[in-house]
Amino acid sequence: MKVQLYAVCLGQKWEWRITIHTQTDIQYWFEQYAADAGLVVFEPFISFGQGVRLLQKLNGDTSFTSRKSGEGIEEMGETALERFRRIAREYVMPNQEAFKKEVIHHGTWRHSLYPRVVLDTGAYKDIVDACSGRSLLIEEVHQLLEGVGLDCGIGEAWRAYLQLAHLNGDLELSNGLEVIERREWRQAFKKKTSYRCKRCGSSDDRMFWSACVHCGQECPYCEECLTMGRARFCSLLVSGRSALVAPFGGEEVDIRAYIEPWGLSEPQARASLEGLHYIRGDARDHRKVNWLRDISLVLFGSVERVGLSVRRRTAANEVVKPSALRKFLIWAVTGAGKTEMIFPFVHHTVAKGGRVLIATPRKDVVLELQPRIERAFVGYSVVTLYGGSEQRWEQGQITIATTHQLMRFHRAFDLVIIDEIDAFPYHNNPMLSYAAAKVCKTSGVNILLSATPPKAIRKAAERGLLPHVRVPVRFHKHPVPVPHLISVPYLRKSLRAQTLPSSLFGKIAISIERGAQVFVFVPNIQLVDPMVELLRKMINPRSGGSMICVEGTSSKDSARTEKVQRFRNREIRLLVTTTILERGVTVPKSDVIILDADSRLFDEAALVQMAGRAGRSKDDPAGKVYFAAKEITYSQKEAIRQIQQMNRMAYKQGYLLRGK
Ligand SMILES: [Zn+2]
Ligand SMILES: [Zn+2]
Repeated sequence: MKVQLYAVCLGQKWEWRITIHTQTDIQYWFEQYAADAGLVVFEPFISFGQGVRLLQKLNGDTSFTSRKSGEGIEEMGETALERFRRIAREYVMPNQEAFKKEVIHHGTWRHSLYPRVVLDTGAYKDIVDACSGRSLLIEEVHQLLEGVGLDCGIGEAWRAYLQLAHLNGDLELSNGLEVIERREWRQAFKKKTSYRCKRCGSSDDRMFWSACVHCGQECPYCEECLTMGRARFCSLLVSGRSALVAPFGGEEVDIRAYIEPWGLSEPQARASLEGLHYIRGDARDHRKVNWLRDISLVLFGSVERVGLSVRRRTAANEVVKPSALRKFLIWAVTGAGKTEMIFPFVHHTVAKGGRVLIATPRKDVVLELQPRIERAFVGYSVVTLYGGSEQRWEQGQITIATTHQLMRFHRAFDLVIIDEIDAFPYHNNPMLSYAAAKVCKTSGVNILLSATPPKAIRKAAERGLLPHVRVPVRFHKHPVPVPHLISVPYLRKSLRAQTLPSSLFGKIAISIERGAQVFVFVPNIQLVDPMVELLRKMINPRSGGSMICVEGTSSKDSARTEKVQRFRNREIRLLVTTTILERGVTVPKSDVIILDADSRLFDEAALVQMAGRAGRSKDDPAGKVYFAAKEITYSQKEAIRQIQQMNRMAYKQGYLLRGK
């Protein structure tokens, strides 16, 4: 998109601005300041991104904003044009000689040389409300307004509404990418320019340059969040505001009232209580909180460096550093019943009039959570968002969404719960922390859930720098099965020989005999089919006539959902798969065998998650887990150590049945 640059003179100072609808700005300033205001409007129109960049420079330097004493408006126009040219030279903008200016006085404006913009107050308010808590590209704003049945009038009237809302500080208009300038000391302090996506936080390596029809230049866009629309350097990004603090009405109820309705086990209830104390700000140790602030900078990077000059009038006081965001980690073993533990948090927040977001990496989890949350919170509006969901533009008190949907929000929620912080697409991806901080109100709280927190977060928690609670026991109060190591040759060797070592095959046979289902994990997709063939060949001749169904699935398998269902139904007894099924799938009576467990593709977290598929049911809590490998790697040792550590903790805290 292109915008117009102008300078408005108010008293002794110039303020440089850009606009998507010049008439609105002219009218706004003269209505507010009458003859005290003077405007100089420039041509040609420039790219939005470029405009934002120029403003940073122009408004950040007093030599561009101060008015010479005794200078009349016409002279001021000359000075301003000269300043504009100077800055344009610095940014190597073409055709500087063709730059034009127009000086507008209150007098000329009042005598109706300029048409007045007439907007409908009701429509204005509706538009601002609809955008509240959102962060949307202009194409999405159009869809939103259409989706909620709002009419901005004909033609380009939307520009006037949005621009006025921006001037009034009700909406923030900015461009899609932010420019970061750094001096590179290794290269004699040469200036280095890089771009960063304001929606997903991706940096230069995800930017792609192409000729752009919107600004008529080569213009970068973000590839990382392309599936959610193209965020360009020149794209218009509209961010709404929401009430900074939830209404938080009602009397302060005894905290236990939020725990009791949910039938939690003792360890679950204890974790929820700790979390509730944190949410309510009952935290005690200020020193820790300060430490937390420092460490979260290390862990989560910086979040939002906005061009203050653009937002100065609007939302500067709302700009929040990630460091200020309050975070609480629930570190619970696989099968601990995380979902139930978050009910009290949701309950507490919605009861006080706040808004909750539950973000999870996978769509199937969203769909699974929806009926549970709806049943639990009757009378509250629940909205589910994922790629292609029908409730795309609805606002609810409780929102359940896939990670990508977070990009469409801005300071919207009082409580943000992030499930499986270590899972794809978060894993090693800064997008999550960026988005999670962005969607949370400054007064809000992030609750992080994980069975296998990333190392940095784990360390922070262990050192007492990140407030957290550990849930070391499963809901059925049996210990998590500890993996056994089996020493076998590399899988490829077994496949070439078309036989499995008896130490390994014996375990599979025992599992089949005891009526368990078996997850067989392999490190990569290419191994799935050969392994299925080999298992079929080895098992069925020895199974005494009854056919044992062996199947395989991977991320490339279009029939995956159906096969997982057949596995759940016990039609499939052995399922060969990759880490794609490392989490989410629960099969009551199951054992787990991880082949080539020494593969570099299996990190500690993946091993813990895969092992976590076993023993989840209270009727078969002691499922078997085997790490079959030629070598014992650090990851295997760490995974076993982590599981044992949690089991010991559960034992010490007296959570295990029969004290075992
Ligand atoms: Zn992006
Ligand atoms: Zn462009």
